[in-house]
Amino acid sequence: MTDFTPDYDNILKDVPTGLLLGGEFRPASNGETFDVINPATDKPLVKVASATEEDAKQALDDAVAAQTEWKATPPRKRSEILYRAFELIRRDADKLAQLQSLEMGRALPDSKAEVGYGGEFFRWFAEEAVRISGDYRISPSGTSRVAVINQPVGPVLAITPWNFPLAMGTRKIAPALAAGCPVIIKPASKTPLTMLYLGKLLIEAGVPAGVISVLPTGHSANVSALLSDDRLRKFTFTGSTEVGQMLAAKAAETSMKVSLELGGNAPFVILSDGDVDKAVQAVSDAKLRNGGQVCIAPNRFIVHESKKDAFVEGVVKRFAELKLGEGTDPATDLGPLALRDQQEKVRDLVDDAVKRGAKVECGGKIPDLGGALSDGYFFEPTVLTDVPEDADIVREEIFGPVVAVTTFTDDGRAIEQANDTIFGLAAYVFSENLTKALGAAETLESGMVAVNKGSLSDPSAPFGGVKQSGLGREGGFTGINEFLEEKLISLEG
Ligand code: NAD
Repeated sequence: MTDFTPDYDNILKDVPTGLLLGGEFRPASNGETFDVINPATDKPLVKVASATEEDAKQALDDAVAAQTEWKATPPRKRSEILYRAFELIRRDADKLAQLQSLEMGRALPDSKAEVGYGGEFFRWFAEEAVRISGDYRISPSGTSRVAVINQPVGPVLAITPWNFPLAMGTRKIAPALAAGCPVIIKPASKTPLTMLYLGKLLIEAGVPAGVISVLPTGHSANVSALLSDDRLRKFTFTGSTEVGQMLAAKAAETSMKVSLELGGNAPFVILSDGDVDKAVQAVSDAKLRNGGQVCIAPNRFIVHESKKDAFVEGVVKRFAELKLGEGTDPATDLGPLALRDQQEKVRDLVDDAVKRGAKVECGGKIPDLGGALSDGYFFEPTVLTDVPEDADIVREEIFGPVVAVTTFTDDGRAIEQANDTIFGLAAYVFSENLTKALGAAETLESGMVAVNKGSLSDPSAPFGGVKQSGLGREGGFTGINEFLEEKLISLEG
C-alpha cells in the first residue's frame, strides 16, 4: 500500500450521469438509476440513469428525425466535427484516463494509452469522411452504364463492453458519423461514465442533437429491444461471443446490417528459433495491459521446449516487479480486475489448472492488499507451467494477468495446436526466420497476427476476427464500409 489518497470528487466532477438524449443529459423516463462500483474497493462511486425501453425508443425517434440532415451534411463539415472531437479528447485526455481507471480499475498508463488510441479513431475517420468513393463503368456487354454510390446505412445501435470504455465506442461512433449515420450507444453498465463524458465532448464538438445518444442502463434488454424495430438499420456489437451471437440472431429478424467483435483465445507461439527477450517484452505489452482483460490478450502460451525455462524466468522476473494498487494511484502497475465475477473466474481457472497438474511459478491467488483495498477485485500476476491441454484455462478466455504455458517440440505441431480453437481473433508468433514467421502468420487462423511483437491495434489497420470471434472489421480503410451501403444506379448504355 502507498499513502495515496484518491480524489474521487475531482475525477467525477463535470461527468454527466444522465442519459444523453436529444442533445442533453436527462434522467431516465421512470427515474431509475444504477450504481457504478469502484473495483478497487467494491464500493459504489456514483448513480447513473438507467435507460428504459421508452428512452431507447425516444433515441431511435431522434435518430430517425436527425438522419436526413446528417446524411446531407457535406462530408467536409462532418469531417471537421470529427476532427474537433479528436482535439477535445486530446484536451481532456487526463480527465478521461482518470475516469477510466476509476470505473474500470486498471492502471493509469493503460488508461492513457487507451485515450490516445480511442481518440485517434476520430482523427482517422475525419480523414476518411471526405474519401467515400463510388464507381462508374460501362458494363461488359456495353449495354448499360453502371454507377455505384455509397450511402449511409441508417440509424446505428452500438453495444460495447467494459474493457475499453472509450475505444470500443469510438471505433464504432467515428466511422458511423463519418459515413453519415446517427448512433445510439449503450455502454457496459460497469463503465458508463467514460462514454457519457465522450457524449458531452461530442455535443461540444458540434454533433447535432439526435445524431448521438448515449444510453447506459441496468437492464440491457431495454436497449437491445430496438433490434426488432426496423427503422434501425445497423447493429454493431463488441463483447462476448455468446451475447453477440444471441443479439445478432435477433437483428437478423429485420435483416439489418450487423458487425460483431467477439471473444478471443489468442495463441502466443514461440517457435524453436524465437527470440525470448522479444517474447518477454511482448508479454508486458500484450498481457499486462488492462490486467489481461483484453480480447486480443495472449491466452495460450505455446512455447518450444528449448525456450521454456528462459521465457518463464523472464516473465516471472517481470511479474515480481509489478506493484498492485488502485488504478488512479500513479504508483500502480497493475490494478484490480473490473468485476468480482471476473476475479472469481480467473481464480477458478487457475485452481482448475493446478488441480489437473499445472505448476505455479508465481502468483496464483487473490491477494489481500489491506485497508480500503481489501475487498478490491485484485488477482496476483501468475505464471503456470505444465498446463495440461484439458485444463479449462486452455479453452476459455482468461481475462486476467495469467500466463499459462504449454510446450512442444515440433514447430508444425505448435501451429496446429494454436489453431485448435473455435476463436480466431489475434495470434502472436515469434521466430527469427522471416520465411518461417510469415508462413506461420499465413497459417494461423485469426484475423490479426503479431510477428515478434506484442501490439497490433492501430486505427489505420483493420481490426477483427475470423471463426467465432467476429464478423466485419473496424478501423482501417474498410471500417467505414460497415456503415455504408452500396447502391447501384444502372443507366441505359
Ligand atoms: P458481454 O457480452 O457480457 O457484454 C457486452 C455488452 O453487451 C455490454 O454492454 C453488456 O451490457 C451488453 N449485454 C450483455 N447481455 C446483453 C443482453 N442480453 N442484451 C443486450 N445487451 C447485453 O461482454 P463483456 O463482459 O462486457 O466484455 C468482455 C468480452 O468482450 C470478452 O469476451 C472480450 O473478448 C470481448 N471483447 C471483444 C473485442 C473485440 O474487438 N473482438 C474487444 C473487447 C472485448
